[in-house]
Amino acid sequence: MPGADTLMYGGNTTCIEIRGKQNELVILDAGTGIYPLGLDLLSSDLSVINIFISHTHWDHIQGLPMFQPSFSHKYKINIYGPRDLESGLGIKERLAKQMDRHFFPIQLDDLSSRINFFDIEEGEKIRIGSLKVSGFKFHHPVVNFGYRVEDDFNSIVFTGDHEWLSNDLELNDPEWETQQKKIELRTQKTIEFMRDTDVLIIDTAYTVEEYKTKKGWGHGNFDSSILAGREANAKQVYLTHHEPSRTDTALEICFQDALQKNRTTKKHPVFFLAKEREKIKIE
Ligand SMILES: [Zn+2]
Ligand SMILES: [Zn+2]
Repeated sequence: MPGADTLMYGGNTTCIEIRGKQNELVILDAGTGIYPLGLDLLSSDLSVINIFISHTHWDHIQGLPMFQPSFSHKYKINIYGPRDLESGLGIKERLAKQMDRHFFPIQLDDLSSRINFFDIEEGEKIRIGSLKVSGFKFHHPVVNFGYRVEDDFNSIVFTGDHEWLSNDLELNDPEWETQQKKIELRTQKTIEFMRDTDVLIIDTAYTVEEYKTKKGWGHGNFDSSILAGREANAKQVYLTHHEPSRTDTALEICFQDALQKNRTTKKHPVFFLAKEREKIKIE
């Protein structure tokens, strides 16, 4: 949502750049934010680009067709993501769909850069120089990997899009308890994946009020993100995937309301609203 009302927090869709200690590059998601990042990369001397896609909903891939390094022989681009087990389609086949000639003038196979695609498994560790990247299935209407990127000392966890599961069965339903146990186990595993991370970047699309009518759409809310950040003992938590209709001012009001409502005497984690082009140094 570019425009005067989103200048502070930004109007591009999801894209996160991570640099390791040897300057190795990992990009999480290829939303419209990857376009300005691509322009920055053109003026750097780096030639290997590693992109991890959480899932293929538009807001997480729509910058990719316009990613300028992919038009140049200079670059080797590795694209990683989960295979969709329902359709059987790998990450390459799904990304090629948005560049089908009905939707875009240049097809994926016509690009000049050397692009490699990798379907990765949950829990598999991919080494990128000093960094290790692993995926975990976060709950969303389509297959969605959140990623943990770490070196020997520090870590970042990004959820991709994620909705916390809840038990919608009636209390007297004979299946209620089995369902409840399943949900608790999944929630526990999700928290473990985030455990003790230095930076947690978490889907926080809605307020609790808005969430009531958006259940099942696959997103988190301010309260669930604050509680999860505390439960996982993250050091810093960045709330992201801002609801597109929210102005900068409205976003700050929602954030302050949620912090006030969930206030605690504990100093950690520290919560922030994710802001476009903000740089965080972790050491
Ligand atoms: Zn999504
Ligand atoms: Zn999304």
